[in-house]
Amino acid sequence: MKALMYHYVREFDPTLPGLKFLHIKDFKKQLNYLASNYGFVSRNDFIKAIKGEITCPKGIVLTFDDGLKDHFKFVLPELLRNDLWGIFYISTGVLQNQRTLSVHVVHFLLAKYGAEKILKEIKESDLVHNDLFQDEHYIHESKIYLKQEISHEEYIVKKILNYSLKRQEKEDLCSYLMSAFGEDERVLHNETYLTLDEIQEMNKSGMIIGSHAISHQPMVELNDLESSREIEDSVTFIESNVNPPLSTFCYPHGLKHTFSLRETKTLQSLKVDFSFAVESRDILDSDLKNDIHSLPRYDCNEFNYGKVYNANSTS
Ligand SMILES: [Zn+2]
Repeated sequence: MKALMYHYVREFDPTLPGLKFLHIKDFKKQLNYLASNYGFVSRNDFIKAIKGEITCPKGIVLTFDDGLKDHFKFVLPELLRNDLWGIFYISTGVLQNQRTLSVHVVHFLLAKYGAEKILKEIKESDLVHNDLFQDEHYIHESKIYLKQEISHEEYIVKKILNYSLKRQEKEDLCSYLMSAFGEDERVLHNETYLTLDEIQEMNKSGMIIGSHAISHQPMVELNDLESSREIEDSVTFIESNVNPPLSTFCYPHGLKHTFSLRETKTLQSLKVDFSFAVESRDILDSDLKNDIHSLPRYDCNEFNYGKVYNANSTS
C-alpha cells in the first residue's frame, strides 16, 4: 500500500505568483495515472487493514494535510466524481483559537512578496537575533529542505519562521510581518482554511478526518506537557465535532526525526488507531503490526503529474 501526501491543490492565483501548489489539472491527471498504474485501496479495506482484520492491501491511499480550503473547493468534488475517498488532517488550533498558523503565513508572504522583502522586514523588526541570519545547518532543517529547490533567502526565512523561534516568537513575528505588509490575518484565515461545517460535510461524504495537532509545531520542539496537549486536545476536538470512523493523527512537518516514542506513547494511550509520518516508501504489513504510529507517506511530487505548478511553463 502506498500513501500519498498532498497540501495545496488549486488553480493559479495571480495575486500569489510564488505559491508552491499542485494544479487541479495535474491532480486530475495524477488520479488517472494512479488508477491505471496502482489502483486505489477502498475505504472499507483500509479500515479493515488498520484494524488488523485483513493483510495490507495493494494500491493507493490519498491524504491531505493542513485543513486547507482547497480540499473542499477542488479536491472533494474530484474525489466524489471518481468515487474515491481521502484522509484529511486538520490542525485544530485553526478552528479552536481562530489562529492562522505561522507555516501558512510564511507560505502566503513568500508567495506574494518574495523572500528578499520578508528578510528585510525581519531584520528591521529587531525581533530576531542576528545569529539566525547565518547559514549554518541544523540536522533536521537541512534534511527537510534537501529535496526542495529554494533560494538562500527562502531557506533563511523558512528556517527562522518554521524552526528557530519559539512558538510565541513565531506568532509575534508573523503578526508583525502581516501588519508590516498591510495584510489582514482574518482575511487570510478565511481564505486559507476549511470551516467546521465544511469538515463535517466532508466527513459525511465519506472522507476520514484526522488530527494534525493544534498549532502545527514540530513535536520534537515541544516539552512533555505541550506534546501531550497538542495530541490529546486536537484528537478530542476532532472526535467530538466530527466523529470519524477511525481515530487518526499526522505529525506536523512529519519526517521521522521530528517525533519520538514520547508521541507514540501518547497516541497509544488515547487509543488513536493509526498515525502518519513522512517517509518515501510503501506501507508494509510489518508497519501495520508493529509501527502503526509512524506509517510512511510519499509526497505526491514523487509520482507523475505531482510536481509543483510552474506558471512559466506552457503546458
Ligand atoms: Zn502540515
